[in-house]
Amino acid sequence: MTASIIDGFAAAAELREQVSREAAALKASHGVVPGLAVVLVGEDPASAVYVRNKLKATAECGLKSLEFKLSESATEEEVLALVKRLNADPAVHGILVQLPLPKQIDSDKVLGLIDPDKDVDGFHPVNAGRLSVGLPGFVPCTPRGSQILIDRILPDLSGKTAVVIGRSNIVGKPMAQLLLQKNATVTIAHSRTKDLPAVCRTADVLVAAVGRPLMVKGDWIKPGAIVIDVGINRIEVDGKGKIVGDVDFDSAKEVAGAITPVPRGVGPMTIACLMLNTLDSARRASGAA
Ligand code: NAP
Repeated sequence: MTASIIDGFAAAAELREQVSREAAALKASHGVVPGLAVVLVGEDPASAVYVRNKLKATAECGLKSLEFKLSESATEEEVLALVKRLNADPAVHGILVQLPLPKQIDSDKVLGLIDPDKDVDGFHPVNAGRLSVGLPGFVPCTPRGSQILIDRILPDLSGKTAVVIGRSNIVGKPMAQLLLQKNATVTIAHSRTKDLPAVCRTADVLVAAVGRPLMVKGDWIKPGAIVIDVGINRIEVDGKGKIVGDVDFDSAKEVAGAITPVPRGVGPMTIACLMLNTLDSARRASGAA
């Protein structure tokens, strides 16, 4: 079997177009333009690239972006004061604080201060709780994007088995909650799981969110399974840098039914879902949802 390749790049472009159309409709009906505030503290080059990409996508979708740059030496009080100001600003519907923060700043304290109703990253414990009890809230962008890709192939997972490798608060746990909502029977695997290959072989839907390059091999995969590779790992091949996922794509695609590549798989969906979460927030705030 050769798997069909799930084109996350194309799916993300469609989703961003949908957000553009719906944002224009919201502006016409309620006079509201969804606003996303992005806070960047310090000089981390990777963070600067992520922020630039997010701001670019925001503008392309017709949303308003507000960028706040603080120096590497900013104090925790300064960052907390900025978050409070953004919480109170009605033109701001989404607040994103780019991680990691410099070491003098407690990230949990900063993320915990963001108004849960503007927490478009979905990292606030209130939103984690809402997701687990099935209340409307914000779902972290990477699992939301992954779930949209799965939905396009199998919208109802009744009777199906799903395995998520990784139990982080931003990917693994929310991913497992979403799969459960779709009626899958869900297993969360992690670094203490015994015989991981055997656990993975039970999965009709396998999501790898580990951070270990090419870990999941073809013989870990149930024939015909949907494989979602969340991993983004930089490795060296012949002296050149290369981005690969947590799944050994070449062997996995011979067994899976459908598989996301890296790059152009889950990654583009993450930013598109940030736009979607910001639109959702503006709709709720303006009573349009
Ligand atoms: P994380 O917080 O480091 O969590 C990694 C998880 O993998 C942990 O739960 C860990 O288990 C588990 N793990 C580590 N080694 C393992 C092993 N040998 N066998 C089984 N499980 C193992 O990472 P994360 O933030 O969830 O991110 C995971 C990956 O996704 C990374 O490559 C990251 O770059 C990528 N990512 C991509 C996007 C995107 O937009 N595509 C967004 C976010 C993250 P323990 O809990 O037991 O330690």
